[in-house]
Amino acid sequence: MSAKLPLIGYNLQALEALVKDLGEPKFRAQQLHSWIYVRTQRDFDQMTNLAKSLRVKLAEKYTVGQLSLVEKQVSQDGTIKYLFGLPDGQQIESVLMYFEERDVYAVCLSTQVGCAVNCDFCATGKLGFKRNLTAGEITEQLLYIRHDSGATVRNIVFMGQGEPLLNYDNTMEALHLINRSAEIGMRHMTISTSGIVPMINKLADEKLQLTLAISLHAPDNETRQKFMPINKKYPIETLIPALHRYVDKTGRRITIEYILLAGVNDTQGHAQKLNALLKTLHCNINLIPYNPIGEEYGYQRPSREQVLAFRDWVMEGSHKVTVRIERGTDIAAACGQLQNLANITAQEKEVAVVAS
Ligand code: SF4
Repeated sequence: MSAKLPLIGYNLQALEALVKDLGEPKFRAQQLHSWIYVRTQRDFDQMTNLAKSLRVKLAEKYTVGQLSLVEKQVSQDGTIKYLFGLPDGQQIESVLMYFEERDVYAVCLSTQVGCAVNCDFCATGKLGFKRNLTAGEITEQLLYIRHDSGATVRNIVFMGQGEPLLNYDNTMEALHLINRSAEIGMRHMTISTSGIVPMINKLADEKLQLTLAISLHAPDNETRQKFMPINKKYPIETLIPALHRYVDKTGRRITIEYILLAGVNDTQGHAQKLNALLKTLHCNINLIPYNPIGEEYGYQRPSREQVLAFRDWVMEGSHKVTVRIERGTDIAAACGQLQNLANITAQEKEVAVVAS
């Protein structure tokens, strides 16, 4: 493990304190801040408007970041999945997506190594929880991808590996760093949660202009509990009032995510219950046809006809309904597929890629 401290994670005030300690004038902090967060430079030596003596002093004690690239997979649709190594030997994945019709790049960030929530359809859940990522480790995923790809990333989704609201403080710190230092607007960021009610209430009180996405995936406790054990702790009768409170506090429309699992939650009855449940909630509904990750998971993607029928049934309610455009399914970069493929056997990897 490197003994040097990574600077990604330091905000401007912290960098000002750091350059002061090094005996340098305050304006050097602004220059360093710009190199790290805006120009995404990872090498002190390339920070050419810093005095050579400062670059040497920085390199003695610090590094810019600490992620190492383990593997990069490029999808036919241009989606890129990054597998990053962390200094303690753990690995995480992040995804760069390009939406041609809107000419927008978005990055999907991980917030934890593994995940404790253990949704039954999710590859990350099968890894179990390893540890929380620091604010710097979360932020660096974006900066590394910007540096590597040259893409002008305008949208961030905290929707990769992990449950962001179970790593609340670090996720919030990363969110503010990305907003203030990496200059991505709060309205261009989405936090996706499986429904951790106390943390949704806490987030509501912060009155941020981000988008909250809820992985609802079922309209009743009986169906939801079959594949989302978190529903036992925060059942629908506590989750939905928390969402209404969130809307009241922030004025923001919520995104309801609904993964369609063939024969599990995709009938007309489920659609009708969903419409009744969400009738008065200020929300959009995003339907996500499931991406199979292996036969052992036991879930299948509904047929295209069933997906469209479900969409039409839900459209009978009063909400805007979209069917998610798939990104990177050929490289297992889609929702629920992130599983640190380098950690599994070549045979499993083949299954994960081919099955999608
Ligand atoms: S879907 Fe999200 S919350 Fe559920 S196990 Fe996977 S990473 Fe965790």
